[in-house]
This record gives sequence, structure tokens and C-alpha cells, in this order.
Amino acid sequence: MNINDVVSELKQKIGERYVSDDPEIQFLYHYDFITTEPEGKCDIAIMPDTAEQVQEIVKIANKYKIPVIPWVSGINFGSIATPRKGGIVVDLRRLNRVLEVNEDDMYAVVEGGITWADLKGYLDRNHPDLKAGITWSPPGTGVIPSCLCYGMYDLGMLGGTGAEFINGLEVVLGSGELIRVGSCSLSNYWYGRQPLPDLAGLFIGWEGTTGIVTKAAIKLWPKLPYRADFLPIAPRIDDGIPMILKLSKAGLGIIDLCALNIGWCQALMGLDEEHVAKDPLEFGLPDFFGLISTQAYTEKQHEAQCEGIMNICKEYDMDPLPIKEQLESFPENLQGIMGHLTPSTGGQTPVQFWGCWNFTRGGGGQWIGTYCSTRDIIKFYNISREICLKYDKPPQFYSRIMMGGHYCVARTNIGFNKNDPEDIKKTRILLKEIHKAVQKLDGVVMYKPPLWAVQYYKDKTLPATTKLIEKIRKILDPNKIMNPGQGI
Ligand SMILES: Cc1cc2nc3c(=O)[nH]c(=O)nc-3n(C[C@H](O)[C@H](O)[C@H](O)COP(=O)(O)OP(=O)(O)OC[C@H]3O[C@@H](n4cnc5c(N)ncnc54)[C@H](O)[C@@H]3O)c2cc1C
Repeated sequence: MNINDVVSELKQKIGERYVSDDPEIQFLYHYDFITTEPEGKCDIAIMPDTAEQVQEIVKIANKYKIPVIPWVSGINFGSIATPRKGGIVVDLRRLNRVLEVNEDDMYAVVEGGITWADLKGYLDRNHPDLKAGITWSPPGTGVIPSCLCYGMYDLGMLGGTGAEFINGLEVVLGSGELIRVGSCSLSNYWYGRQPLPDLAGLFIGWEGTTGIVTKAAIKLWPKLPYRADFLPIAPRIDDGIPMILKLSKAGLGIIDLCALNIGWCQALMGLDEEHVAKDPLEFGLPDFFGLISTQAYTEKQHEAQCEGIMNICKEYDMDPLPIKEQLESFPENLQGIMGHLTPSTGGQTPVQFWGCWNFTRGGGGQWIGTYCSTRDIIKFYNISREICLKYDKPPQFYSRIMMGGHYCVARTNIGFNKNDPEDIKKTRILLKEIHKAVQKLDGVVMYKPPLWAVQYYKDKTLPATTKLIEKIRKILDPNKIMNPGQGI
């Protein structure tokens, strides 16, 4: 295959301006700029504007048997959009339109490359009573990849993961065919995946190895007038988690429920890791910070919810001050960027805010991010904390309780200096050590797993399950061009 032939054929179909094999453009897509994962190679970058153009790209890629990598911002934390075997990186960010908002069934039909900033801006302007959830990822990251990769938002207690927010999909398969799944396959409504065979699962959790989603409907939720965010603090994670778990099952209208350790809070506050206590417990600093968000339709209903929250916190000797008040009780130099929260945000963090968080000088960060049983949160934290401290790194831990307490996310992030090869090496070893150690807790499974973790899961799954996955991939992507080298 001559790459120049591919470039000129792509230029004919998509337009000169949106296809490039210039080295400075290739560089932008060759790795994720955040993690310790190895770099890849982008041969051609392309920006289609329609589903038909995506089909054209995939057909050309099939003709030349060249890899195709769907991409929105490429900073998913697992390096799963890094082109492992070269090929065409399909930057989907021109496909960023909101096509419809159905206020009755509360969903938005969007294109496959829409970013969180695009969506939130559109909803705030046109449908201020509805929300899509807020991620802690930077505003320029993708909504659809987040949903497809089991990402999560500040509505996790209501709706579970982003995958559960998907009502329907339009997808260009690896073969180049266009399909639709969900109610949109039979009608103009995109209200859900029920009651047909649930084919959305062929694209969720596959890291772009089965097709490119060109349209999707995602659930929206009502923004109710009464809401509050509380930040209870306790000496240790072990003290706070039982309280969080009790709250999760108390039916108190909680929409988001998280537990953060001090390391994660310091990262969110934009504090430099060089200047923070590695082991806060040594200095008598608190290590548990809860994040409880509520909303209600009437004042009375909200008062009752808040009273219920207060009572449960008090049972565990905690005072759930509202987030702003709690932050004001910190010394000013410890408020960091969180000190910029103002009443004008309505107690809700603006989407840009979370994207500001800083890992360390040198800007590297990578986590062991997992789904697991709520039984194992404390054990997960203590195992990973011990390993981080052994390597002289502050553990940054976060757990989010999902879907009314049915399961949870537990993850430990490591900040590192991308300019320091020794630090990168140490972080790689440390991440693998945490991953191996938390596997002792049955049921800890990484989402957006980097390559080395994928292999671990492949070896562990029943052989017939692995074979079935391979067979499905072959049907959807007969020439194995879709994001090769990634996915389970
Ligand atoms: C600081 C920080 C905080 C974060 N916090 C959160 C968080 O709170 N919640 C959360 O969910 N995530 C979080 N993330 C992870 C991630 O950035 C988001 O999930 C994001 O929305 C994914 O978009 P992306 O643009 O990074 O995806 P990409 O890296 O571009 O893509 C991710 C995967 O999806 C595939 N893909 C992309 N688009 C398509 C498509 N249209 N069809 C099929 N496959 C596709 C890619 O090939 C790749 O395998 C965070 C990341 C950072 C850096």
C-alpha cells in the first residue's frame, strides 16, 4: 500500500482541507499526552463532517486494509485512542451537532464527536431545565466516547454509567455499513433500547474496535430548583465509607455520592504535589472527604432530604457542611481553585472547573480506575495507599457510588512528571503493582484498560467468552481495521 494513494483518495472524498499527513499534524494524534502508555503512530488524520463521509473513509480503509481509529480528544486515561498499528485517525470533532432535544422523553440526539462543552453550552442556552450530567474531564473531551467507555458523571446515583445513558446509536460498522440500534431503528423516536434485542452492547466497552458511532441519543435529566452539595470530612476513609454506603440506600434524593481522599482533593484544588503532605495521616490531617449532591422539586421535600442526610452523617460523627462553607473553613492557601466556587454557579461546579485539575508539575497522570463491589472500597483504598506511599507518591483516591448503591467506582490516580524518565518508570511499576494487588479483591475490573491490563482480563475470561468476542469482532470488522491492538 502506498500511503500517498490513500491520502489522495481520502482528499477526493472528504476535501483537501480536512485530510493531512503532515508530520506536525500526525504528532497531535500519535499518543495521549497524559499517561505513561507507549506512543503510537498516526499516518493520516482526517475530519469528516457527515456519517456518509465516515462511511467513505471506512470503505477506503477496507480497500487498502489500513487501520482506522475513532478519536474525539484522545485523553481517555487508558491510551485507548492511541493508534497502535498506525493508520487513519478519524477526528470526529466536526460531527459536534445537537440534532434534536426531546423534552417529553428527556433525551438529546447528538453526533458522535460532540464534546461536553458543546452539549452543556447548547442545553444551557436552549433547554435550561434539562441537564446531561457533568464529568470531571476537561470540557473538550467527547460525550459519546465517555458513554461508550463506561464513563461517569455527577448523576451516577440516578442513572449509573454513561453506557446506561445511551438510548440508541447510529453506527458505521468496520465493514462500512450503516446501522441503527434501539427504538430509532424502527421510528423517529430515540426513547430507548427496549424492547428489541439490545445491539448497543456491540459498541459499548469495545473501545472503537467494532464501529464508529455517528449519532447517539443520550438521556437528559430534569434540573430541579432546590439543590445542595455537602462536604462531610472525617479522619480516615475507613470512617467515611460506611456513612456513604448507608446514605446510598436511604432513598434521600441523592444524585451524586462520592468519597475522595485528601490526595484527590489536593489535585482538584490545583495544588502542586511537591508541596503537599504525602501521608496526611502522619500530620493528623483528615483523609476522608464526602461529596453529596441532592436535588428536589419543592423546598419542603428538599429540607426533608437534607435532614435525612444530616441525621445519617451525625450517626457517624460527621458534620455535613455545604461545600462552600466547608471550603471557607480551610486556610486560604489550601482552598486552591476550589476557592473560586461562587453562589453564581448555583452551588454547581461549572464544567470547565473540573478540567483545571492538576496532577503534578510535569502534567502526567494515570490511574487504576475500576468498577467493583461496594464491599471492597475500603480494602481497595488501603491496598493502593500502602503501595503509593512505598513509592513516595501521594495516593489520589476517589470512589463514586453508582445507580442507587448497586455498585461503585474505585480508582487511585498517580501524578507524575512527564519530563522525568525515572518518574515515568516508577509510575509504570507502581500502577502495575496496584493493579495486581487489587485483583485479590474479587470483581475489581478496570474500565478503559490500557494494553497490559487487557491481556490480564483476556487470560482470566473463560476461553469460550474470548472466542465469542473474537467472532463478533470478525463479523463487524472483517478486515480487522478498527482500532487494532486495542480492546478486550
Ligand atoms: C482530567 C481528566 C478527568 C476525567 N474525568 C472523567 C470523568 O469524570 N468521567 C468520565 O467519564 N471520564 C473522565 N475522563 C476520561 C475521558 O476524557 C472522558 O471519558 C472523555 O469524555 C472521553 O472522551 P475522549 O475525547 O477522551 O475520548 P477518546 O480518547 O477520543 O476516545 C475514547 C475511546 O472511544 C473510541 N471512540 C471515540 N469516539 C468514538 C465514536 N464516535 N464511536 C466509536 N468509538 C469511539 C476511541 O477509539 C477510544 O477507544 C477524564 C479524563 C481526564 C484527562
